[in-house]
Amino acid sequence: MDDTGYRLTLQMGAPRYISTRSSNETFTLSEAISLGLAPDGGLFVPDSIPDFLQALPAGQKFSKFASSLLTPFLCEELAEYEIEDLCISAFPFVVPLIQLHGGAWDDCYVLELFHGPTLSFKDFGARMMGRLLGSFNCDDTRKTIVLVATSGDTGSAVADGFAGFKGVEVIILYPAGQVSKIQEQQLIAKRPGVTACKVEGAFDDCQKLVKAAFIDDALSPVRLTSANSINIGRLLPQMIYYVWASSQLKEPPVYCVPSGNLGNMTAGMMAKKGGMPSAGFIAAHNANRFFPDFLRTGKTVSRESVRTISNAMDVGAPSNYERLKVLFSDRELMDHITGYSVTDAQTAETLKQVYRATGYLADPHTAVALHSVERFRAQSDFKGPIVVLSTAHPAKFATAVEKATGVLPPFPDRLRALQSVETEVITLQNSQDQLRAVILDRAFATG
Ligand SMILES: *Cc1c(COP(=O)(O)O)cnc(C)c1O
Repeated sequence: MDDTGYRLTLQMGAPRYISTRSSNETFTLSEAISLGLAPDGGLFVPDSIPDFLQALPAGQKFSKFASSLLTPFLCEELAEYEIEDLCISAFPFVVPLIQLHGGAWDDCYVLELFHGPTLSFKDFGARMMGRLLGSFNCDDTRKTIVLVATSGDTGSAVADGFAGFKGVEVIILYPAGQVSKIQEQQLIAKRPGVTACKVEGAFDDCQKLVKAAFIDDALSPVRLTSANSINIGRLLPQMIYYVWASSQLKEPPVYCVPSGNLGNMTAGMMAKKGGMPSAGFIAAHNANRFFPDFLRTGKTVSRESVRTISNAMDVGAPSNYERLKVLFSDRELMDHITGYSVTDAQTAETLKQVYRATGYLADPHTAVALHSVERFRAQSDFKGPIVVLSTAHPAKFATAVEKATGVLPPFPDRLRALQSVETEVITLQNSQDQLRAVILDRAFATG
């Protein structure tokens, strides 16, 4: 076990990126984003975090706030006005921080991250990464294939955030029968440069297929990258909303994060390292309890993923754990993060109780976090603010929400529009050969 403290240092100037598995080679952000995975199979992590806090403007729009925060990370590769334009076009939506009143959630805040086009927080990372990839690649003639495994929300956010950029082809893998109807509609909506593949397997199988494609020799002529949270381009923009929330509060909050692959948690811990005021984190997991078990026992057990009503968090072995272990010591993780594993019954009961006590209609992923807040408050003497990251709009999981609360969530127009669009999907066996054929076709087919 490693207990050497932060390896991440605080310094001025844009960071370089190194692999979680070896630190002798460094990469620029554009290289790290277009490679996706490091050449040795590790994940990219920054070798330092710029002290972004002092540069942050108060009382600004989210997009302005975002560009100030990202500038120290991007300034060596993009001009300041380019960074501002990227942020304005990536984040044209609101990011409300809502205070709840009543019951066990009195005075707790919900940070609504679902006002983007596909109604989940994944729009932040995907829209920014799509634009970064587009600007870094703009004078290249080769196609970039973006591979993405999804348990639901990633795929639609990436399809929407990346579609139509010149030279970018997105291939989405999702587990057959394991995403909600609305999620599937969002995934298979026909878009330019996007191919949706329904895989006969679980999310972990999709993720394994993606990882295997990266080390497949037959695919070495293909410029391949990933838009999962294994891509560092997704994580950096996710720091922004944590800092945005803390800038509106008088005291440092505890952040409660509905977690699966731990990308969101990693972004939060990185923001803390950059100077964001925080009193700690809660890792709110469903029955997939890899990380809460680690925080409690210091040991990890990889298991098959278990299916739950918060299906975007059904991850047996979270990939960003590898990042957390390199960026922070075990002690650091255990001291700053409290983990909970929440059952489906508790999730449904929380949906109902929160609605009754506060009038707030949450989605099942947010409910896993709200249940964790209740447990955290019962066992800790922390009296400061708690910010719950709300990762999806309840209408995306309308059946589960209605079953638990008796209330059908209001249906946003941007979802309604989806029901009439043309769809397209390929069914794949859980085998590398079929995926390889699709990748080669998309990379080299003309037209
Ligand atoms: C992806 C997702 C999560 C989990 O986020 P990670 O970064 O993988 O931990 C939580 N809630 C929703 C709605 C999601 O789509």
